[in-house]
Amino acid sequence: MALSNPAAQPSIRRIGVIGGGQLAWMMGPAAQRLGLDLVVQTPNEADPAVAIAQAAVLAPVDDVAGTTRLADQCDVITFENEFIDCAGLQPLADRGVIFRPGLEVLDLVLDKRHQREFFARIGLPNPRYAVLEGTESEVELHQKAAELGFPVVMKTRRLGYDGYGTVVVRTPEDLVGTWNGFERNPVLLEEFVPFTKELAIMVARSATGEVALYPTVETVQVNQVCRRVVAPAVVNPWVAETMAQLGRTLAEQLDLVGIVGMECFLTEDDQVLVNEIAPRTHNSGHYSLDACATSQFEQQLRAVSDLPLGSPQLTCAQAVMVNLLGLAESEASHQQKIAQLQQRPNATLYWYNKGIRPGRKLGHVTLCLGVEDDPVAVAEEVEARWYGEA
Ligand code: ADP
Repeated sequence: MALSNPAAQPSIRRIGVIGGGQLAWMMGPAAQRLGLDLVVQTPNEADPAVAIAQAAVLAPVDDVAGTTRLADQCDVITFENEFIDCAGLQPLADRGVIFRPGLEVLDLVLDKRHQREFFARIGLPNPRYAVLEGTESEVELHQKAAELGFPVVMKTRRLGYDGYGTVVVRTPEDLVGTWNGFERNPVLLEEFVPFTKELAIMVARSATGEVALYPTVETVQVNQVCRRVVAPAVVNPWVAETMAQLGRTLAEQLDLVGIVGMECFLTEDDQVLVNEIAPRTHNSGHYSLDACATSQFEQQLRAVSDLPLGSPQLTCAQAVMVNLLGLAESEASHQQKIAQLQQRPNATLYWYNKGIRPGRKLGHVTLCLGVEDDPVAVAEEVEARWYGEA
């Protein structure tokens, strides 16, 4: 007897995307290739993805009325931004609106504490941490930090991104001041991991349980913001294998339909500790646009619209992605640097057309490399051209 697949949805053609920044913008070409329409929910007409979408609901990403209008126009809703109002959206899910990934996945990642508790439940190793609700005494704060050992890392539990909301506390003297800086909101206090590398992996999963694992990449952060990604990461084979296993476990245990990014620390003794996850496309996967058979953006669209997943294989020996953050320079100077970088062989530059602000992610460049190339040297050269560093 043939079993019907209850998860498969009849012909999903119109995809609602909550968020209209660069991640949704980069879905544009893939959606076109796959014959899918994109409708984005984003606050401003000038947001990058409005230009590539078939329609836009101009509303903040956590505006439930906006998502209700989005749902009326779409077969499925997916995310490029997780800062939504999960509880507010639940009535939509209850009346049959399909969210992929499901709201329970979004709810889980919205609070770093819930993420950590989930990691523990499913056996994903992660840094030691303590929870602060904000009501503790300063004595309790000091006790918790002392148990972890200095330095400790204080992190906002909700709405942190790109290191906003993450502070390394080096000495006990800085503890209370840092906590006050967080207005004593709920935070995680975490051991500082003296990592040798930061690693990341993208994992896609379909409603039928098909899983596509991208290569493990190395990410380099400057001031807690991703500066560079090297694919594949140069690690022991068992580290890459561990990343793949943890990534698969994560996607399966989340019952994910969509794509998830997993960011990890690699310790000196080659242990992988999971730092955080994002149930959407991720900066660490941008290289896939130019260096993989199927980009992370196409893969997300495939997963949420019940198309077979594509191959996540690299199509070149290695690749490097460098983020182009806003500089304290004129627009003309940014444009001049863009023109220079575009001339570099094997380089593809993406400029998101966002307002220039120092430190803001404005674009990225990917370079596909051969086996003989040194990705770090290439990245350093590109970074020197953009950031003017030696
Ligand atoms: P966000 O959610 O804002 O991206 P993260 O938790 O990913 O914040 O932290 C940003 C960066 O800060 C990480 O990529 C890493 O470089 C550094 N960092 C965060 N937590 C730790 C830690 N426990 N030990 C060492 N470095 C850390």
